[in-house]
Amino acid sequence: MNRSKDELNMILEELQKKQEFIFTQAKQSDLSRHTIAPVLEELCMRISKIMSCDRVSIWLFNESHTTLTMQNSFHKKDSAYSSGVKIFAKELPSYFEAVQQERILAIEDASTDPVTKELRQHPFYDEGEVKSLIDASIILGKGIGGVVCCDSTELRKWSYLDRVLVASIADMLSYIFDRLERIEVEEHVQQLAYTDQLTGLDNEYSFAEKVTKQIASFKEGQRGIFYYLVMDQFTEMQGVLGPDGADLMIQITANRLKKLFPYPSQTARLAFDHFVIFSPFDGELENEKAKMELIVNKLKQPMHVSGQEVYMTFSYGASVYPEHASNVKYGIQAAYMALQSGKVATNRKSGIVYNPEMHTYLKETMLSEMNLRRGLDMNEFQLHYQPQVNCRTGEVIGFEALIRWQHPERGLIFPGDFIELAESTGLITPIGEWVIQQAANQIREWNEQGLNNVTVSVNLSPRHFLHHNLPFFLEKCITEANIKPKSLVLEITENVAMEDTEAVAKRIHLLKEMGYFISIDDFGKGYSAFIYLQHFPIQQIKIDRQFINGLGKNPKSSGIVQTIIHLAEMLGLQTIGEGVETKEQWDILKGFGCSELQGFYFSRPIPVDEINEMIRKYGRGGKLLLPSA
Ligand code: C2E
Ligand code: MG
Ligand code: MG
Repeated sequence: MNRSKDELNMILEELQKKQEFIFTQAKQSDLSRHTIAPVLEELCMRISKIMSCDRVSIWLFNESHTTLTMQNSFHKKDSAYSSGVKIFAKELPSYFEAVQQERILAIEDASTDPVTKELRQHPFYDEGEVKSLIDASIILGKGIGGVVCCDSTELRKWSYLDRVLVASIADMLSYIFDRLERIEVEEHVQQLAYTDQLTGLDNEYSFAEKVTKQIASFKEGQRGIFYYLVMDQFTEMQGVLGPDGADLMIQITANRLKKLFPYPSQTARLAFDHFVIFSPFDGELENEKAKMELIVNKLKQPMHVSGQEVYMTFSYGASVYPEHASNVKYGIQAAYMALQSGKVATNRKSGIVYNPEMHTYLKETMLSEMNLRRGLDMNEFQLHYQPQVNCRTGEVIGFEALIRWQHPERGLIFPGDFIELAESTGLITPIGEWVIQQAANQIREWNEQGLNNVTVSVNLSPRHFLHHNLPFFLEKCITEANIKPKSLVLEITENVAMEDTEAVAKRIHLLKEMGYFISIDDFGKGYSAFIYLQHFPIQQIKIDRQFINGLGKNPKSSGIVQTIIHLAEMLGLQTIGEGVETKEQWDILKGFGCSELQGFYFSRPIPVDEINEMIRKYGRGGKLLLPSA
C-alpha cells in the first residue's frame, strides 16, 4: 500500500495527537488496573486508524513469559472490543520466540511464513482471516513485557514508515505500562506504611487517620474510649521464647483483638507488645469498663508457642474522648499515662481510667526515676558511631552518631527508652545540642587523623529541629571546630517534615542555604510522600530497615526498594540503605543503584575508641575500607 505525501502528513499529525493523548492518560495520577480498560480501547481503535489495520491488540506476558494475555483488542469490521484471551508458548513456540527476539515482527504473508505456521491453526487468528501482520514488542523495566499486534486482511508489504509507526506506538505503551507498574508499587509502599507488618493490624498513622474521621462524624452524645494495652512481663517472656516466639505471641494477641473488637472499634499495634484500641460508645462508661474486663479475661486464654502453653496477662489504661483528650494523639497519651500511673501507684498495672492529676504526678515520678537532667550534667551520655559506606566500593564515607546513656544504676540505656521522655520534657534540646557539639568536634578529630571528607550524621528530634536557636548553635559549633557545614548531616524523620509544613519548609531552606546536608530518616515508615519531598531541598533519604530486611526474602520488598531508589534518583536525591545485615542485601542494593549503606553487616554502632582502632588498622591514605567490605 503506497501512501501519498498528504496522507503521510496526516498520519504524522495523527501520531502526534495520539502521543499527546497517551501521555495525558499516562500522567493521570488515578491510572490503575481498574481505569486502564477504556484507555486501552481508545488506543487500539486509534492505532487501527494510524496503521490502517483491521485488527489491533495489546498483550502482556506473564512473569515466566509462557503466556500472553490480551489486554484489549479492536476489531474494525464490527467496531468490537474484546480482552482476556490467552495464548500459550507451548501452542505457539515459533511466534513466542520471534516476538521476544525481534523488536518488530513484520510478516507479509502469514500463510507461508514459518513464524506464523502455528498461529494459522489458532482459533484467535482464524476468525480474522489474517493475511499480514506487524507486531512490536513492548519493553518494560524488567525486559520485554508484551506486544502490540496489528493485523491486516490484505497482503501488505510493510514499509519503513509502518515499522517506525508501530515501534513508536509500542514505546508509548511501554510508558503507560511502566507508569502503571510504578503506581502500583507506590500504592504498595503506602499500604506498607499504613499496616503493621507483623500483625496486619493498622499502625499508628492509619489508626490516627481512621479514628480522627470517626470522631469527626460523631453525633451529639457519642463518645469514644481509648485503651492502651500491653502484655505483662513481655520482656521476660521474650527472653524465654526468643524473638520468633515473642513475635508469635504478638500475632496471636493481634488476631484475638481483631475478633474481640470488631468495627466500629479500631485496633492498632504501636510497637513491641503495645496495642491501642478505640471504641465508640453512647451509654454509660461503667458498661464499657465491664466489657473491657471481660475482654481482658478472654485474652488470657493460653497460647501455643514453640510447643509450650503460654499464659499471659494484660494491663491497660483508658481515656475517654472528649472528656480527657480532644484528639487521637492526646487520647493515646492519656490512656498510656493511666496505664503507667497504675503501675506506679499499685505496682499492678490494670484497667485504670485517666484523670488529669496523673499528668503531673507521673511526670515527676518518671523523672525522679530517670533523671535526664542529672545525666546530662554528670556527663553520662555518650555517642556511639556506626560507619556508612559507599555502596559501589564499600569505602567508609561517614558515620551516624547514636546516643546512649550510661546510667549509674540501670546500665547502658538505648535511645528508644529515653528520647521520648526527653522530647516531652523539653530536655531534648540541650541533649541534641550536646550531640551536635560532640559530633562537630569528632569530625575535626577525624579530619586531623587524615579522614578528610568524612561526614557525621546526627538525629534531630522534631522539637529541636524547629527550635529558634538551632541555626545559631550549629553555626557556633562548626566555627569553633573549624569544619565545613556539609560534613554535618542533619537527619530528620519523615513525620517531622509532615508536621508543620510551613515552619519546617522554612527551616529546611534556611539550613540548606547555610550549607548543611539534610537527610530524611526511616523513609517509608511514615507517609512516604515523594511528591511532598519535591518541595524540600533535602539531599538524602535513608530507606527504612523494614524494607531492607525483606530484600532477597520478599519479592515485594525488592520492588519497593527499587522504586524508592528510582524515584529518589529522579528527584536528584542520594539514598542510604539502613540496616544492611547481609552481603546478599548489599549486592541487591548495589544492583539497584543505591548510593550508600549502613548496617550491622559493616559494623554495629561502637564507641569512638573502637572506631579509632578501626582507622588505625584499616585506614590507608585517607581512606577506610572495613574487612567486611
Ligand atoms: P535511627 O536514626 O534510624 O538509627 C538507626 C538505628 O538502627 C540504631 O538504633 C542502630 O543501632 C540500628 N541499626 C543499625 N544498623 C542495623 C542493622 O543492621 N540491623 C538492625 N536490626 N538495627 C540496626 P539505636 O541506636 O537504638 O537508635 C534508635 C533510634 O533512636 C534512632 O534511629 C534515632 O531515631 C534515635 N536516636 C539515636 N540517637 C539520637 C540522638 O542523638 N537524638 C535523637 N533525637 N534521636 C536519636
Ligand atoms: Mg538516624
Ligand atoms: Mg533510621
